Amino acid sequence: MASHAGVTCDVCNKYNFAGDRYKCLACYDYDLCETCFDDKATSQNHEVDHPMQCILTRNDFERHNGKKEATSGYVTSYTCPFCGEDGHESESRLLDHIVIEHDNSDGEQVVCPVCAATPHGDPNFLTDTFASHLAMEHCGGCEYIG
Ligand SMILES: [Zn+2]
Ligand SMILES: [Zn+2]
Ligand SMILES: [Zn+2]
Ligand SMILES: [Zn+2]
Repeated sequence: MASHAGVTCDVCNKYNFAGDRYKCLACYDYDLCETCFDDKATSQNHEVDHPMQCILTRNDFERHNGKKEATSGYVTSYTCPFCGEDGHESESRLLDHIVIEHDNSDGEQVVCPVCAATPHGDPNFLTDTFASHLAMEHCGGCEYIG
């Protein structure tokens, strides 16, 4: 199966590119290839300081993790869609961060980084109640550690 099927880089228009993919969490349906991301290239309404979620291709993911099938998405960590901080290792870690740092975030529309990275998820799921979306949809099974 082709990696990033149907994904086009919004700067160089490369289609189904290989390598890491960077998805903007502030713009709707905005993806960059690794090269354009490294070049800090922008187009349309996108700006360099927008939070970006790095999404691995399935092949890269398997290379990083041994042949393990992804259960929660082809990512090594999640990016906060509000402040752009990355390194959140799991959905529940991200939720901890949102609850502590962004408890007044309701009303700000962002793309859900977990949906975007999840195989068969909606890559452009927009929500203006991200904290509750994350808790309900992605942390239903995880124990909330406050
Ligand atoms: Zn590109
Ligand atoms: Zn953007
Ligand atoms: Zn944040
Ligand atoms: Zn989601």
